Amino acid sequence: MCGDFMSIIKCSFCGKEVESRYNGYCQSCWRYFEYDGYKIFKLPEFGEISYVEEKNDPQYGMVICHICGKAFNKLQQHIYYSHGMSKREYCRMFGIDNKSRLTERCYHKKMSDYAYKYNMPEQLKQCGVSTRFVKGHDNFYERSPMTMNRLKENKFRSKSKKCEVDDNNEK
Ligand SMILES: [Zn+2]
Ligand SMILES: [Zn+2]
Repeated sequence: MCGDFMSIIKCSFCGKEVESRYNGYCQSCWRYFEYDGYKIFKLPEFGEISYVEEKNDPQYGMVICHICGKAFNKLQQHIYYSHGMSKREYCRMFGIDNKSRLTERCYHKKMSDYAYKYNMPEQLKQCGVSTRFVKGHDNFYERSPMTMNRLKENKFRSKSKKCEVDDNNEK
């Protein structure tokens, strides 16, 4: 219909129809290959998350996409913007646990280091709480006025029973 419209090509990598600039790529592929100088990796196995393993690679530690073999720090954004999939859909399709993190390995490590550093005291505190709770059996005795009252009440009851018995005896 619009013959004189800017020519539309298919991205030579992902097949997305785009205006022909960016050297035959769509914008995101152009950015990936030409601007960042990134490359394509072997597709991960079904049910596995793969990371770029070559230490000298500028993409070392990045998560590899099951669909196109590109690798990213945060795969979730890529699968959403490039493949139009939610993390849930992606995980289901490739046999990955929904809870797994689709983030760069170093980032992941950083996060767990962070968690280690900052959650530990919290965990210790919680351990402390549970220890205190165990020791709290003493507290239980300290709180025993209630128990004391109950005991008193029982005593009273048995006393009054005694009285009753006495009364009965008198009759
Ligand atoms: Zn593309
Ligand atoms: Zn992809």
